[in-house]
Amino acid sequence: MSDRHILTAVAWPYANGPRHIGHVSGFGVPSDVFSRYHRMAGDRVLMVSGTDEHGTPITVAADAEGVTPREIADRNNRVIVGDLQALGLSYDLFTRTTTVNHARVSQEIFLGLLKNGYVFPQTTLGAISPSTGRTLPDRYIEGTCPICGYDGARGDQCDNCGNQLDPTDLINPVSRINGETPRFVESEHYFLDLPAFTRALGDWLATRGSWRPNVLNFSRNLLEDLKPRSYTRDIDWGVPVPLDGWRDRPDKRIYVWFDAVVGYLSASIEWARRSGDPEAWRQWWQTPDSDAYYFMGKDNIVFHAEIWPAQLLGYNGEGDRGGSPGPLGRLNLPTEVVSSEFLTMEGRKFSSSRQVVIYVRDFLARYDADALRYFIAVAGPETQDTDFTWSEFKRRNNDELVAGWGNLVNRTVSLAAKNVGAVPTPGELTDADRALLQATQGAFAPIGELLARNRQKAAATEAMRVVGEANKYLSDQAPWKLKEDPARRDTVLHTALQAVSDCNALLTPFLPHSAQKVHELLGGTGVWSPAPRVDEVTDLDDGSPYPIITGDYDQGQAVWTSRPLPPGTPLSPPTPVFRKLDESIVEEELARLEEGR
Ligand SMILES: [Zn+2]
Repeated sequence: MSDRHILTAVAWPYANGPRHIGHVSGFGVPSDVFSRYHRMAGDRVLMVSGTDEHGTPITVAADAEGVTPREIADRNNRVIVGDLQALGLSYDLFTRTTTVNHARVSQEIFLGLLKNGYVFPQTTLGAISPSTGRTLPDRYIEGTCPICGYDGARGDQCDNCGNQLDPTDLINPVSRINGETPRFVESEHYFLDLPAFTRALGDWLATRGSWRPNVLNFSRNLLEDLKPRSYTRDIDWGVPVPLDGWRDRPDKRIYVWFDAVVGYLSASIEWARRSGDPEAWRQWWQTPDSDAYYFMGKDNIVFHAEIWPAQLLGYNGEGDRGGSPGPLGRLNLPTEVVSSEFLTMEGRKFSSSRQVVIYVRDFLARYDADALRYFIAVAGPETQDTDFTWSEFKRRNNDELVAGWGNLVNRTVSLAAKNVGAVPTPGELTDADRALLQATQGAFAPIGELLARNRQKAAATEAMRVVGEANKYLSDQAPWKLKEDPARRDTVLHTALQAVSDCNALLTPFLPHSAQKVHELLGGTGVWSPAPRVDEVTDLDDGSPYPIITGDYDQGQAVWTSRPLPPGTPLSPPTPVFRKLDESIVEEELARLEEGR
């Protein structure tokens, strides 16, 4: 293993409902492909996330059902954990924002910012109900978004464009309780002094030239209009503000977005505490040879390229006001904000309320996880908005996975099993044999480089091109016609099996479930590509139970290099690795979409 530490910081899915395939195409699959590649390359990966459980939409859902926000969060946390595990996402820790540990770390960041002068109290306008005189929490105010014009924006955020709002920003604000127009009176809040980071953020972004151009341009544009942002909100569900006179107030909490991004740090600390070495997180956050990659959809760039770096700079004492690092010590800024664009569905925007949606769970009930992972990697919204269509999904699955890669595995292993019963011993190689082995072995370096730079589409496409070369070799050499020349037949089969083994390694980050199967078809034993598991644990501080995703990823045998396949390894007749999809699934799925089921 190298000493290179890589933090894979994966956007926190919001726990107001199950996640759909558009969500996991943004944060989920790309972050897992990246992590699996780096583990295979020998780097020390820490992949963390969890469910984001505070904020207005959870309280609105709880109000609607007449249950507590905690009940909503508990239920959706469990659903999301199950779905992400089933997709094979190899989190070292997938936790949640309602742990005691998370609240403590969030409060520590707030206090560090306060100490260095980067958050300040300010009287602002808060809403009250004119008829009762009582405070109207942000979630009870609705109006038109001043940015995108959406007419269901709430007092803290527009769910349509994702922008953070203040209740006073809304056009025609009304109370959701009784429809009256709220009155705005003075209310005290804390603000993050973003303008004090203009220079530091600009200097940092100036060193980030390798980012995707659209992400970098968007981030640089944000610097032109930095305004103080309220760090606290009028809400009763969230992390308490850790100050005398505020701590016990039921109506003031840290803003959900400002605690959610701290989750990368708090989850790393929780992982370390659970690992038995509570200081282990520091290797990913505080050493100069560590890198941190943040994965998300483009609606979250502002929080990862502006707000979170500003929180880190302020905590470190590296903004215009100076200062010194808080008790945790200096914390590393993101190496890269890896943002995807949006996935649409049959030409329409995903919408749970309009039922233009397919949830991860429903998808995986009908199709294999690797089929979805492959589609997202090779045809997902990496650098531009991309449409998911069932006909294209079926085509990719049938033409590329089944007829391309699966067929290569099946033909090669079944010929060797039938004729030899084991991996054959090769004789002298011909130019054609050497050319194929050079192609497969030579593919590790360029595809690895593409994966390290998160050019996953190009990496998957290149891996499948190599699969195509192997298929062509097999057709050209036609070992089934070499009954009279068993020595040559065995050399061809050995060469083809070695190529299958190499291609399997190249495809493992994308297709971990089928890679394990192919490993076993090649006579391998034990774990090739480790699967995540769900553990039932208790909160380290208050004992309340919850499920986490974790795994023993060091046990995986997959490495990012060609490994010689030992002659004599017994082989059995193969079973198909992928399922061919029937023509009729396209019509069935389109009918489901129309009916909203
Ligand atoms: Zn909006």
